[in-house]
Amino acid sequence: MEDVVRIRGEVVTRMIEEARHDPSMECCGLLAGRDAVISAIFPAPNALASPTAFEIAPEVLFRFFRHMHSSAVDHMGIYHSHPTGDNAPSPRDVECAHYPGVAYFILSPRPDAPRPIRAFSIRDGRIAELTIELV
Ligand SMILES: [Zn+2]
Repeated sequence: MEDVVRIRGEVVTRMIEEARHDPSMECCGLLAGRDAVISAIFPAPNALASPTAFEIAPEVLFRFFRHMHSSAVDHMGIYHSHPTGDNAPSPRDVECAHYPGVAYFILSPRPDAPRPIRAFSIRDGRIAELTIELV
């Protein structure tokens, strides 16, 4: 993966809304698009309902992947929020990063966060921050 991730502004706006909607738990969802631009967001319920972890239920993932297939977009990212801590990947995030080719977006709902949205590539336990380019 190159070190730039391109994403539509309205998808970023929606992600931030999702993160701020209920700061008592991590928000989560998938991102999709085509031609190297993320243009669609699939918000998911956090199956763990936790402020420090998230999981998307298998049946929800299945529905999202089917929807992506039928609308001819590719899975390009996963997002979640860290309501309480720094929005950098946690050890659990690295351990649970099962999609090496996608961008992992992590959001902070806190108004004082220096960078409320960051993106990372997580591959074989190695983290690299990606530059977010709004298109
Ligand atoms: Zn996390």
